[in-house]
Amino acid sequence: MEKKDIKWSEIGFGYMRTDYRFQAEWNDGKWSEGGLITDDKITISECAGVLQYAQTCFEGLKAYTWKDGSIVTFRPDLNAERLQRSARRLMMPEVPTEMFMRALDETIKANAAWVPPYGTGATLYVRPFLFGSGPVIGVAPAPSYIFHMLVTPVGPYFKGGIKPIVICVSDYDRAAPHGTGDIKAGLNYAMSLYPGQLAHSRGYAENMFLDAATRTNVEETGGANFLFVTKDGKLVTPKSSTILPSITRRSLVHVAKEYLGLEVEERVVPFDEVKDFVEIGVCGTAAVISPVGEIDNGDEKIMVPSGMEAMGPVLTKLRETLVGIQMGDVKAPEGWIRKIL
Ligand SMILES: *Cc1c(COP(=O)(O)O)cnc(C)c1O
Repeated sequence: MEKKDIKWSEIGFGYMRTDYRFQAEWNDGKWSEGGLITDDKITISECAGVLQYAQTCFEGLKAYTWKDGSIVTFRPDLNAERLQRSARRLMMPEVPTEMFMRALDETIKANAAWVPPYGTGATLYVRPFLFGSGPVIGVAPAPSYIFHMLVTPVGPYFKGGIKPIVICVSDYDRAAPHGTGDIKAGLNYAMSLYPGQLAHSRGYAENMFLDAATRTNVEETGGANFLFVTKDGKLVTPKSSTILPSITRRSLVHVAKEYLGLEVEERVVPFDEVKDFVEIGVCGTAAVISPVGEIDNGDEKIMVPSGMEAMGPVLTKLRETLVGIQMGDVKAPEGWIRKIL
């Protein structure tokens, strides 16, 4: 198969229209069979639930090319499961795991020419999403839904080396107790745009959000979970019912325990404790781990001991091991890799 003529290592994280996408519709209580389409435009009611009341959720995962040329995905069963949880909370029909996997296999296979080759650092980003497409004017769940999966090649997250970022504690909250912080809802991102823009305008890469109830404990950034390393080499990650259960974080916790023999604590992390950690990172599908070099909270500046030049040794080892698993260079735990081609 001929790959597209793209300078793979130079592309960024942006949308590029590819050849095929998968779509299925839910009507009258059931899903259509669904299948590949070439049209990148979706026509829906002007009164669609997604347009009026933000009834939508999504997922994000990647397809990787291994050294032997095979194309794989990483733990997509967890994305299918998480999309189902998000759907239930937003009163949308669940996408059956069978359909999710069929969509994944078909969409990636059909777009194989768009999957970046091994060694370029680039990957194919997969974006499944689900939304209310039928009309509602009184507040209610939409009468019909669309499940759509698109793919777009994305470049290496770190061009020219991994550089620690500077972040700030936000004056805004991300998620309320018993709210929707633990699901991947579009609405969680709409409301984070303003605090995100504010942070960027002040020179920060990301916001650190604290728990809305007490504003004393660390939650997450707008799109990544936190990892901390203690002086005695333990991995600590915040536990809260209002953070999004990152698949990368859950995988890194397993890698830390089972591959690196680290002690791991999943618990409440008071902001007051942050100054005592020796390495700090944020994790998610996009970068696996990004190191944090400085955290500002008003006038208080916390300089992370690992510094502004490089990622600390524990997070580096963790990242290298997980990337090794994703790229086929380290043996994966049973069931973590789904081979597509
Ligand atoms: C998607 C997401 C993450 C990262 O989850 P991964 O499954 O690791 O990609 C973290 N926080 C939020 C709010 C998210 O939406």
